[in-house]
Amino acid sequence: MLTFEHLFATLPEPLWVACQPTPVAQPSLIVFNDALAVQLGMQTRPDDATLAQWFSGNQLPPDAEPRALGYAGHQFGHFVPQLGDGRALLLGEVIDQQGVRRDVQLKGSGRTPFSRGGDGRSPLGPVLREYLVSEFMAAVGVPTTRALAAVSTGERVNRQLPEPGAILARVASSHIRVGTFQFAAVRRDESALKALADHVIERHYPEAAKAEDPYLALLEAVTARQAALVARWMSLGFIHGVMNTDNCSIAGETIDYGPCAFMEQFDPQKAYSSVDEGKRYAFENQPTIAQWNLARFAETLLPLMREEGDTVVAQATEIIRRFEPLFDAEQRRLQADKLGLVADSDQAAALMTALESQMHQGRMDMTATFDALTHYAHTLNEPHKEALLRLTTQPNELAAWLEKWQAVQVANQDGERLAAMRRANPVIIPRNHRIQDVIDAAYKGDFGPFHTLLGVVTRPFDESVEARRLAAPATENEQVLRTFC
Ligand code: AMP
Ligand code: MG
Ligand code: MG
Repeated sequence: MLTFEHLFATLPEPLWVACQPTPVAQPSLIVFNDALAVQLGMQTRPDDATLAQWFSGNQLPPDAEPRALGYAGHQFGHFVPQLGDGRALLLGEVIDQQGVRRDVQLKGSGRTPFSRGGDGRSPLGPVLREYLVSEFMAAVGVPTTRALAAVSTGERVNRQLPEPGAILARVASSHIRVGTFQFAAVRRDESALKALADHVIERHYPEAAKAEDPYLALLEAVTARQAALVARWMSLGFIHGVMNTDNCSIAGETIDYGPCAFMEQFDPQKAYSSVDEGKRYAFENQPTIAQWNLARFAETLLPLMREEGDTVVAQATEIIRRFEPLFDAEQRRLQADKLGLVADSDQAAALMTALESQMHQGRMDMTATFDALTHYAHTLNEPHKEALLRLTTQPNELAAWLEKWQAVQVANQDGERLAAMRRANPVIIPRNHRIQDVIDAAYKGDFGPFHTLLGVVTRPFDESVEARRLAAPATENEQVLRTFC
């Protein structure tokens, strides 16, 4: 049993609206995350039929009180004053075994007062993608929402073609976004804004309460978490795809895995999302966009800050500027780990820049490159060197780079560095074409490939035969070039 609390409900409306899920025809449990359920304090596992009832919304778990949350947001740079949970419902919060309050939300549970023209539903494909990618992110230690359950609905949803429907139960430190603050701010509802900010400080950033100006301290803390988060994304080749302010979590977690994708061949300009035609959210733009989103967050907080006029704006601006050094420091640390070098060396940063250019020019797969480099770092033997050189179309150039890298790497090689290097370079990522295979099979009623892929991406550093098979980059005709949400 999960024990729900409802602290968010103590905040004023319209930050939330009570709303019931719309029952579905034939709920059937696809997957349940037992390990996460235990973390959330579930002592005994109900049977599959009960779980399917709960997480389809057909018969909610005891004490759940469904609410749709209000939020606004900049979508692709354009402000929309009212978005909100158009197809999601917060069931309540659970205090986990570490004492942390975590939201449990249904996504795809039917229309809400925020649905506008939408049907409130979710196709099966995006539910499976979010399940796989968010659980992979958790396994590599990137802050993220988690997937608790997926249920098929037995109903069709109409997209370009009719598709099977599904519902995802997801868990987050909270679902409060930059857009939640924008929602209160655009209504000039200062009491809602203050209540929201105080709730966030108490829940996510209690140390900010002690600061001279708690709201400035809140901005600073959120900025630091976003900088660290996006640096982690960049280190894995992750492209979020829809970094709108409503998809930017105040708790600093990766949220809303719509058209996300992992980059294969390294290309800073890469974008996959079918709706991102201007490539606003391309790989290399992500830090700048995160900083832009934080500036929008800062604007909402200005009325709460203590001084008046320019001083507050200047202070907030200074904090937003600090995103850059915070991001750089985190990125340098991660880059050093990925190369098996000591942190904070200019050598590591220069070697990474040179390797990125090699990966780009030599059409190298990013994940395979770092995996092969990790193997070579451990042995420094010829076969591993050759395996690495086979990944590029420009082996002479890469061999020259390797010599420079080796001169630095050998000088500071030790077991701890090598272990950190392995942890920074997963053997497997959830590749787009593998996710597509899983979705294709699931649309034919076969969830076997989903479970197999889930098993390996949640143990991303294991060298199993199955992992090796599923880790292989897409061939020319397997490549997925566009993703949809
Ligand atoms: P997203 O692009 O997924 O972050 O969603 C942007 C907004 O569109 C949010 O307010 C969603 O709740 C809403 N939305 C997305 N899909 C649907 C849908 N099928 N029905 C209703 N609202 C939706
Ligand atoms: Mg969203
Ligand atoms: Mg979405």
